[in-house]
Amino acid sequence: MKTWLSVPADSDFSIQNLPFGVFDAGNGQPRAGIAIGNHIVNLAAAAESGLFGKRRFFKKLFEQPVLNDFIALGKPVTNRVRRKVQEWLCLPQTPENAEAILVERGAVRMLLPVRIGDYTDFYSSIEHATNVGKMFRPDNPLLPNWRWLPVGYHGRSSSIVVDGTPIRRPHGQILPKGEEIPVFSSSRQVDFELEMAFVIGKENPLGQPVPVEKAEEYIFGLVLFNDWSARDIQRWEYVPLGPFLGKNFGSSMSPWIVPLEALKPFRVKGPKQNPAPMDYLRTTGARNCDIELEVAIQPENGSETVVCRSNTRYLYWSMAQQLAHHTVNGCNLRVGDLLASGTISGPTPDSFGSLLELSWGGQKPLTLRDGSIRTFLLDGDSVVIRGWANQDGLRVGFGAVRGKVEP
Ligand code: CA
Repeated sequence: MKTWLSVPADSDFSIQNLPFGVFDAGNGQPRAGIAIGNHIVNLAAAAESGLFGKRRFFKKLFEQPVLNDFIALGKPVTNRVRRKVQEWLCLPQTPENAEAILVERGAVRMLLPVRIGDYTDFYSSIEHATNVGKMFRPDNPLLPNWRWLPVGYHGRSSSIVVDGTPIRRPHGQILPKGEEIPVFSSSRQVDFELEMAFVIGKENPLGQPVPVEKAEEYIFGLVLFNDWSARDIQRWEYVPLGPFLGKNFGSSMSPWIVPLEALKPFRVKGPKQNPAPMDYLRTTGARNCDIELEVAIQPENGSETVVCRSNTRYLYWSMAQQLAHHTVNGCNLRVGDLLASGTISGPTPDSFGSLLELSWGGQKPLTLRDGSIRTFLLDGDSVVIRGWANQDGLRVGFGAVRGKVEP
């Protein structure tokens, strides 16, 4: 595929990618868009020029502040819109309406692309679960259920924010080491969690589970996700009902939703599962994705240090298994729901996806490029997560999700 538009060779947003997002062009009016290189295809303008047929219908659809109604039309429609944009970008010469439809990506502010109804966070990396288990329960790191089901919890959607939104250091109850009485304090252990998340694109009625082999029909696309965590608050509160205020002060997502279809060339088999999953979780074929991930910390006024390199392929439980398990009891998913993977840690210490693991609970401080050390995040630190798939010169990337810790 060749486009008349100049797209940098190393761009995450290649002609094969074409992810969906919502941008504000500066006049406070949201518009749906597709990223291509350093530009955005303004889908409302493309609709107005008749690219998708039914001008008024599509123009109105792409002037909405979120993509939910568009996604709810289903893959035949969303894939057709993507294909029409691809064809338009691959016309033999620059079309006359190019100027009216293209927007400079650097000139706009990206918005949260979907209205997220429910948010679920899984715990699907065996390396992460084992590492955290060793620190919180040295005698019993991986609990007996972990290899049988994709462990997860219901999180909170109201505090999910888009790339670039600052994160305020939370206050809460903390039990100081060796003490029996908790104190009220600002968290001293604010951390990131390297995750990916997927957006639900199709509903299942209450009471009707989604079979694992059909699960991917319900996945619209993927984003990068930082599940900010306050470890000291989490440690005191999590027994017996799990994560709460140590998690819901903020989670950040990347603004461009990469459709599952764009990741087709990068699908791989997951790790061998032992014991063999129960029938309702049993899948065949390449259900994982080979997506390279990195996390960098950038101190206030400083330069970035990459502190972690990982890969989505390390996940033990696949998205299809997460979705099948989530609905096996009849729980209904709705368009715009977000299901996150859990921290994606790899097998080596430089691939651990949180500071909790990288600094091993604070025992092994990291040294950044400016010589400063970190066990957990300081005020002014920005965390940047990037992700991309790359194979034989074909690149499909996610851009980045960035957030800065503020006092
Ligand atoms: Ca998490």
